[in-house]
Amino acid sequence: MMETVSRIELGKMFAEAAQLIRSQNETLSRLDSQCGDGDHGTTMMQAMEMLEKATATPVDGRSLNETLREAGWNVMGVDGGASSALLGSFIAGMGDAELGATADCAAMARSLKAGLQSVLKRTKARPGDKTMMDALVPAVETFDAAAARGAGVGEAMEHAAAAAEAGATSTKNLIARHGRAKYLGDKTLGYADAGATSMALLFRGFSVALSNTQEN
Ligand code: ADP
Ligand code: MG
Repeated sequence: MMETVSRIELGKMFAEAAQLIRSQNETLSRLDSQCGDGDHGTTMMQAMEMLEKATATPVDGRSLNETLREAGWNVMGVDGGASSALLGSFIAGMGDAELGATADCAAMARSLKAGLQSVLKRTKARPGDKTMMDALVPAVETFDAAAARGAGVGEAMEHAAAAAEAGATSTKNLIARHGRAKYLGDKTLGYADAGATSMALLFRGFSVALSNTQEN
């Protein structure tokens, strides 16, 4: 399990997440076609490609902060509607917390909380509204609680990924109140929210990257 995140680990986190989301892109579009317009898989593929490129192994000497901000801004520029704007602001917002050259678990918790704050300013959706917030909010809160207990970054991310997955699954029993899906009302019952599902995949990818990597 990793204890700190440098630019190398950051690149691995986004590479794993991108791979996972690519492998599930048809499922994401199918879920979005139950509750929205069916484009979520395509949008997420584009967003993850940008994130993967922007965070790939450093050759440019950019800091963690600069890398996250630029990666997020690139995603905000994807013409993908609600989810790319919100995902981009989460990633760019993560770059607002001071991280230094290698982020320990406490720094990563500050970064995730800064990202969440940035998203909370851009949407009125909150947990229970059947959106990506149902995965994102518990993931960040769980990571923060693990950091406060003194967990390492890899262990905290494992807990965060499990919390995001539980949150995404819980959206099956919810009625959408935001985004395109709100117009479908209780027709969305029984289907997991697409954005919550991709958010859980993002955190699972982060967790896989941080548990595979040898400390060096
Ligand atoms: P669009 O809805 O613009 O087609 P996507 O299909 O890529 O964008 O993403 C849909 C997902 O975005 C939803 O499943 C939901 O999780 C999330 N979403 C949509 N609108 C909002 C909102 N106002 N606040 C939070 N999340 C939202
Ligand atoms: Mg859509």
